[in-house]
Amino acid sequence: MTGGMSAYPQPHADADNHPLIEGWREGRLMIQVCGGCSHTFFYPRPLCPYCWSAELSWKAASGRGTIVSFSLVNRPNAPAFFAEVPIILAEIRLDEEVLLIARVIAREASSIRSGLPVELVSGPEAARYPLPTFRPRQ
Ligand SMILES: [Zn+2]
Repeated sequence: MTGGMSAYPQPHADADNHPLIEGWREGRLMIQVCGGCSHTFFYPRPLCPYCWSAELSWKAASGRGTIVSFSLVNRPNAPAFFAEVPIILAEIRLDEEVLLIARVIAREASSIRSGLPVELVSGPEAARYPLPTFRPRQ
């Protein structure tokens, strides 16, 4: 890190989540698919939350979705975020019908609203963030 910035907290890879973390290093949002009932879901788990099957695989999500709800975090608990408040934390419904909580990057927090279409950040911008991060769809 340069310029006195603190590093973002980093996720810990484990047996269940490492495809998610490794996929994001290549700019992909990986979600799980159940071989038993065909549901897709997030966050990473060893068993399907719908039918308890362990027959799971991974696929890259489209990276497109819509904000369901959001919060503006003005008092983050890690110093790396202090200079970036308010942090926009949103519940996002992916086009795959999967719900997840993720950060949204926007120049103006006041432009964020429920129903707003979003997409994954990409390229060098994506490499800044340790977990899948979104922006308003352009
Ligand atoms: Zn299932």
